[in-house]
Amino acid sequence: MAELRLTDSLKNVLGAATAKALDTGLGLRSVEDLLRHYPRRYAERGQLTDLAALEVDEHVTVMARVQKVDTRSYVDRRTGRRADRLEVVVTDGTGNLTLTFFKQSWRAKELREGRVGLFSGKVTVFNRSRQLTHPDYVLLPDTALPPEGVSALDDMPTADESVLRYAGALIPVYPATAQMASWKIASAVDIVLDQLPEQLEDPIPPATRIRYGLPDLPGALRAIHRPDSRDDVTAARTRLRWDEAFVLQTVLAQRRVAAAALPAVPRSATGEGLLEAFEARLPFTLTDGQLEVGRTIAGDLGRTHPMHRLLQGEVGSGKTVVALRAMLTVVDSGGQAVLLAPTEVLAQQHHRSITAMLGPLAERGLLGGSDQGTGVALLTGSASTARRRQAMLDIASGEAGIVIGTHALLEEKVQFFDLGLVVVDEQHRFGVEQRAALAAKARDDNRPHVLVMTATPIPRTVAMTVFGDLEVSTLTELPAGRSPIATHVVPVTEKPTYLAAAWERIQQHVAEGRQAYVVFPRIGGDGAEGEDTDVPTDPAATEKRRPPLAVLEWVDRLTDGPLTGLRVGVLHGRMSPADKDDAMRRFAAGPSSPDGIDVLLSTTVVEVGVDVPNATVMVVMDADRFGVSQLHQLRGRIGRGAHAGLCLLVTEMPPGTPARQRLDAVAATSDGFELSRIDLEQRREGDVLGASQSGSRSSLRMLAVLRDEDVIVASREEATSLVLRDPDLATVPALARAVAALLDEERADYLEKS
Ligand code: ADP
Ligand code: MG
Repeated sequence: MAELRLTDSLKNVLGAATAKALDTGLGLRSVEDLLRHYPRRYAERGQLTDLAALEVDEHVTVMARVQKVDTRSYVDRRTGRRADRLEVVVTDGTGNLTLTFFKQSWRAKELREGRVGLFSGKVTVFNRSRQLTHPDYVLLPDTALPPEGVSALDDMPTADESVLRYAGALIPVYPATAQMASWKIASAVDIVLDQLPEQLEDPIPPATRIRYGLPDLPGALRAIHRPDSRDDVTAARTRLRWDEAFVLQTVLAQRRVAAAALPAVPRSATGEGLLEAFEARLPFTLTDGQLEVGRTIAGDLGRTHPMHRLLQGEVGSGKTVVALRAMLTVVDSGGQAVLLAPTEVLAQQHHRSITAMLGPLAERGLLGGSDQGTGVALLTGSASTARRRQAMLDIASGEAGIVIGTHALLEEKVQFFDLGLVVVDEQHRFGVEQRAALAAKARDDNRPHVLVMTATPIPRTVAMTVFGDLEVSTLTELPAGRSPIATHVVPVTEKPTYLAAAWERIQQHVAEGRQAYVVFPRIGGDGAEGEDTDVPTDPAATEKRRPPLAVLEWVDRLTDGPLTGLRVGVLHGRMSPADKDDAMRRFAAGPSSPDGIDVLLSTTVVEVGVDVPNATVMVVMDADRFGVSQLHQLRGRIGRGAHAGLCLLVTEMPPGTPARQRLDAVAATSDGFELSRIDLEQRREGDVLGASQSGSRSSLRMLAVLRDEDVIVASREEATSLVLRDPDLATVPALARAVAALLDEERADYLEKS
């Protein structure tokens, strides 16, 4: 018989029927697919599953002992005849679970009191007790659990059922489906493992395996499916995590190496250009952090290969100034710089604040403008055709040295005169592909330098995976003179009067000349809900909850009630861009302006980058409907000026609930890194990785980006040095295949989404 290979189709190994069931339910097609379908956990022989921990609606496999068997008779509604229903109560010693079988009373012969088995099915609730209807099961040999004090492992006889043939003390429990119970998967795995050769081509080079004491691939695969001990499992898991981290880091290292080889025009400061004129105008001194990151960026820009840098820093840490200095450096050297913003509101705001910061420097050719100035163009999807045409002309002629805009900039017909730098604000909303679309707009074969800014602080390992092809700079300090933000939870269920107090605080602040935000999780009103409504909610809690509070349903209530007398504006994602811009402009204009706004009622459109230093209070309604990082971002909108900020998180959640604990965490710390960690720990891994890496569906099964820092760091080093030695991976063919498979998957994912 020909030797089994990982790429072999399961059809040939297991037969068509089993192969089909594995494919339909679980998407497993090749031998490798099956072997990389790892057990979710291991049932310990003699140790019953904790039944209290089962979640309703989940497909579970439990080890339990039959406690009670009853046959009940009932009338079948369809036939009108009497029939038997078998009710089997199984227990873990404390809690229990009911197994129900209709018209299968013969099963009472084998499901006898005291027997231990694995039972598999979907948990439902009936008559207030949890049950499995028609579960799949397999019984362990006919013996009761050993008496107390006797080691369960020594006393259990070997199973005679063939499915448990190889199961040692640890019985693998697989993610399963109704068609494919865990032990059926186990027996399929057994068949495959029996034919697996002793040696397999390994994606991890021997030197790396030796350096980190990793078992070889066949050894790890055998151990993960048929472990003799927990130690076996641990060693195998480490090795299999390495597989995932190493393949991903190899892809990223290849991208870095390839990107570093691309040509770029070096852009160096002239020493007496716009940059210096701008710095002379700055009303504040740059922080040491801003200066240092500035030097790093200037160094990058001076090279003949493109910069790929991520600039992260707390909300308000002054990233925009850093970016603007880089942009001016490029303009001084004769090139153009573009700032790409995720929303129209933000693009417009950037345009306003950059033009204001530049003053006469942004008015070249205009009366009163500066000779050395440059044009600042704004290009967004909603601008009138005439304005868009003018902007595109200025961009193509080079008249505009600085270009600010949204996705509209990515369109093919937008041509640059000489694009030298792309700044992407708030990267999490842009994909790698979009960065690439802009990168293609540089002159000749050159690539622009790229600076990505994000205000969501990213733990190191996430940066190494999601943004693994970027170098990372971090602004750690806030500019001096920043006022602290006090954050409090307003628990309206326990303290109903506190909400009124919150509105009074707004009245107070406005009386002192300040401004306020009230943020809602939903828009409300008629029509489809807009972009800013889908705030993450606690999935377990969504069922019985009322819909989130909606801004449109509160406008009258507030203006005729607790906010009477204040000038109130509304901002949400379903407004036309012109109305949005108008609301933002009036809010930014402030109380002294004739059409200024005191209080802005809004959805999360204010989340990113909005900068109104005079705003000092923020009330977040239904705050528990927002994620931790999102709340941190939101409150970054206040306390940006000379006056202390106050953020009130209004919630109905009772103390001690996870939602309430999240809010308490936000109130307790202003450390964005800490909060981002809390946030990420609560999400599923795919969400942590974000859209750009969600192709990791099958590529990141075992690796947890937050937990496995050591594996990620080490595999990054190893992958980088391998790629430098052997860029095409000629010496590690199995790795080359795995890399190709990952890229395929990414591509497929991208096509699916676009
Ligand atoms: P970020 O984009 O990092 O959230 P911004 O760049 O919008 O922060 O800066 C927030 C505010 O702080 C802006 O009003 C900006 O002008 C101001 N600012 C930036 N750097 C300094 C500094 N070194 N000293 C004082 N204020 C600063
Ligand atoms: Mg910003």
